[in-house]
Amino acid sequence: MNALRSLKGAKALVTGAGSGMGRATAELFAQEGAMVAVTDHVLAPAEAVAATLRDAGLDARAWKMDVSDGEEIARVVREIGEAFGGLDAVVNNAGISAFSPIDSDAYEAVWERSLTVLLSAHHRVIRAALPFLRRSQAPRIVNIASTEALGATAQDSPYCAAKAGVTGLTRALAVELGREGITVNCICPGPIDTAMTAGVPDEHKQTFARRRTALLRYGRPEEVAHMTLSLCLPAASYITGAVIPVDGGLMARNA
Ligand code: NAD
Repeated sequence: MNALRSLKGAKALVTGAGSGMGRATAELFAQEGAMVAVTDHVLAPAEAVAATLRDAGLDARAWKMDVSDGEEIARVVREIGEAFGGLDAVVNNAGISAFSPIDSDAYEAVWERSLTVLLSAHHRVIRAALPFLRRSQAPRIVNIASTEALGATAQDSPYCAAKAGVTGLTRALAVELGREGITVNCICPGPIDTAMTAGVPDEHKQTFARRRTALLRYGRPEEVAHMTLSLCLPAASYITGAVIPVDGGLMARNA
């Protein structure tokens, strides 16, 4: 395989990789030959993902990393970089859903938690990974935002604000780190079938998807992982600061 189009030997870190899109990304990266750090705030699911990959003869290790804890991020990212002997790709994926009406008593707490987990975590992971990325031949950062960064749903303002922040952080760091050849891109998934959307009844999912997406269906976690992979390839060397919807045409559709 052409080295430009391969992750063989690349060292990758994925946050929130015990479930959903993070898990699909860790699996795809390992299948494509990367050494993958499967991280999550709960160790057991991350370990299960890594063990399955190792059983298949692939290269993966699990770490507990709670992205709401800045000290844990700094320590664990350094540990991973040292254990792997470097880092080439960082995927900021961990997330929570956080609905709250603006006048709810819980609003302040939901806002703080959303900003911490969905936005501050991204800059903390990136800052911790930078010393390792700077030594990579093809350093790549992918931030997972949401179509909620581009449009909005009522009662979802903490989430929308945090995700819109991720797009701004992506562009700013793309500009700042571009001179070092480090690319920083952002994916905005639309409605994807994961644990995060498992509470939505199937009937509601189908109605929503038929009314709002061009492809008339929810997406699968692997369909997002394939875009993440593409952005992390050495060949993706001239794509940076991009904010890319992977949304079945949700943002394109007016009627
Ligand atoms: P998911 O619930 O399946 O996975 C989220 C993962 O993040 C879980 O493994 C969870 O344990 C982990 N996590 C939560 N809090 C954490 C913390 N403090 N530290 C470390 N890990 C933590 O959900 P998903 O749909 O795969 O979500 C992945 C990303 O995609 C999130 O950033 C989410 O906001 C975003 N997203 C999801 C959808 C969707 O429709 N599912 C749409 C747009 C964006």
